[in-house]
Amino acid sequence: MRIDVFSIFPDYLEGPLGLSLIGKARARGQLDMRIHDPRSTTTDQHHRVDDAPVGGGAGMVMMAEPLFASVEAAQPPRPLLLLGPGGRKFDQSFARELSTLDGFSLLCGRYEGVDQRVADHLCDGEVSVGDYVLAGGEAAALVIIEAVARLVPGVLGNEESTLDESFAAGLLEYPQYAKPAQVRGWGIPEVLRSGDHGQIAKWRRSQALRRTLAHRPDLLTESDLTESDQRLLDEYPADL
Ligand code: SAH
Repeated sequence: MRIDVFSIFPDYLEGPLGLSLIGKARARGQLDMRIHDPRSTTTDQHHRVDDAPVGGGAGMVMMAEPLFASVEAAQPPRPLLLLGPGGRKFDQSFARELSTLDGFSLLCGRYEGVDQRVADHLCDGEVSVGDYVLAGGEAAALVIIEAVARLVPGVLGNEESTLDESFAAGLLEYPQYAKPAQVRGWGIPEVLRSGDHGQIAKWRRSQALRRTLAHRPDLLTESDLTESDQRLLDEYPADL
């Protein structure tokens, strides 16, 4: 998969994208990550990428021309998504959609944002990581790249871990424990130590249901519960 990112702060991205899963996937050649600095395509003496908003107001706006020139020089994989608080909300299903592509690209804004003509005539869509305002698109780009890259086959060591995690089946994940069985007086649910995989699976499903109902009822309403889910909830008490 090829991912191109356009940012006037390439150093913001290079560190995290060289580490851990993504760094290793890049080193193995599974991920072709290219970071482009629009400032490097500017031809004026001061390498300007921003200017005051036409019509007045606070702050600066990223100018269209350096962004067009940078994208045209790089010929990045499409879709090219502009990061912005007004875009489509990024979530796990959006991450899955992107993970099936051969590539995609992200354009990071800074300051007050980018000239609207970039959104209208250069980018293919806009994506938001949540209802808050960041100082720039770089942190949002890292969120998206990390969520997508770990879904690309071969990037994660253990393939199963993306099938059995929060949001994969519309539920939050069940609680996980590691040894030892006692930590500062707190134990582990007995069933997990029983060796009975059928019972463990049922317990985990019941806890995933309970957690989702308690913390994220928007993901699941009672009416979505199957009869067997209802039975599981009755069978296993809420011990969370
Ligand atoms: N003036 C703009 C905010 C600009 S913030 C407004 O009110 O909508 C500067 C840049 O940070 C944006 O261009 C965008 O690239 C990035 N950014 C800020 N919040 C974001 C979010 N929630 N999701 C994705 N990108 C965001």
